[in-house]
Amino acid sequence: MSAVSEPEIPTRFHVETLGCPKNAVDSDKLTAALLADGLEPATSPEEAELVVVNTCAFVEAARQESIDAALALADARKPGAKLVVTGCMAERYGAELAAALPEADAVVGFGGEGALAEVVLKRKPTGVRDLLELPRAAPSAPWAYVKIAEGCDRACAFCAIPSFRGKQRSRSPESIEAEARSLVEQGAAELVLVAQDLAWYGRDTGEPGALAPLLRRLDALAAEGLARIRLLYLYPSEVRDPLVSTMLELPTVAPYFDLSLQHASAPLLRRMKRWGSGDRFGEIITAIRAREPDAAFRSSFIVGFPGETEREHDELLSFVAEVELDWAGFFPFSREDGTPAAAMDGAIPDEVMHERLRECGEVQDSNTRAARDALVGADVHVLVDGTDEETGEPVGRTHREAPEIDGVVRITDAFARPGAQVRARVTSACGPDLVAKPA
Ligand code: SF4
Repeated sequence: MSAVSEPEIPTRFHVETLGCPKNAVDSDKLTAALLADGLEPATSPEEAELVVVNTCAFVEAARQESIDAALALADARKPGAKLVVTGCMAERYGAELAAALPEADAVVGFGGEGALAEVVLKRKPTGVRDLLELPRAAPSAPWAYVKIAEGCDRACAFCAIPSFRGKQRSRSPESIEAEARSLVEQGAAELVLVAQDLAWYGRDTGEPGALAPLLRRLDALAAEGLARIRLLYLYPSEVRDPLVSTMLELPTVAPYFDLSLQHASAPLLRRMKRWGSGDRFGEIITAIRAREPDAAFRSSFIVGFPGETEREHDELLSFVAEVELDWAGFFPFSREDGTPAAAMDGAIPDEVMHERLRECGEVQDSNTRAARDALVGADVHVLVDGTDEETGEPVGRTHREAPEIDGVVRITDAFARPGAQVRARVTSACGPDLVAKPA
């Protein structure tokens, strides 16, 4: 941690967030802590006396993006404004980052609120050092992420997250419910539960299978205005009863299955130190579709893992074509320091990797197009997020679209406030988005 030399206490702050929804929750909690400290949000980064960059360390491209964002904000800030770099990159590469970014007044890892208090605000921290348990700022949209656990107990060969986020630490159901209730009271109609591995929730506290009872507990908030609960990131081996039945039974829980599959070839999955095979994944998806034909599926895959053969890649391509997921992301393998995969032979040349990525993207684009086209004429239930800046028409999402990563539904010939629920008939599909009219 580098020292801050100037004594002024900031009054306005700006938090810039990179990376995943879990980071967004941390930023949200940091914002609440700063507000509780009497600081005000700045209308722009240039107005702020304190600029915080919450970085992502996921893969090289994300790290570069984080550094670029910090440098851009260092340039844009007004004279004397403090720049603090926090988040995963600060945790994982603190000393290197402080050396590489002399523009930063401080580089602080997790527990950022306590560190910020000491370093920037010149006061003793309030005593609450764990971001996971800090209160939340009011949501800026009618939906909000809720992080139910931190860290990960698994040991996937390509992933560095457990090395710096640590083993899984589940929050108590009471603490999650209290946060969920306060978000609903502040206008969140949809709660998106996140963790590295949601279905593993409770294992570390001796309560395996605790996700299903947690969903029941949160479902009761429907009486207070909660319309939808969405789950992001389920490790495929855990997608079975009673979790699946609970997800399909509870009216607030979206039948949206975000399964982190990573590949379809069994030998390659074993080299990744992961469970499953294309056949097993196909069985899980088929069984859910048989019970709920309206279920939506998303997944992410790694392309170009060391030693990925042409045949293994073809297996992935065939799987993606056959299983017809609504949404999928394909990521080039990234060699992460300290992971077993970083030391593996069989690096896939960049041009091969890009060609494989292109092929996967092409197949998935056609799946997504087909899934969206198939909805034309259907009646859907849209939760309105806001309005289109140009037309003023409502824009929202059904259970099939997660915020920020999937498409949206644009409702024509209608007015509806954010948080409203609208029955609409889909009139056309436009790429990942749908156009609909009130039904
Ligand atoms: S499940 Fe695997 S990929 Fe996901 S965070 Fe844990 S170790 Fe990483």
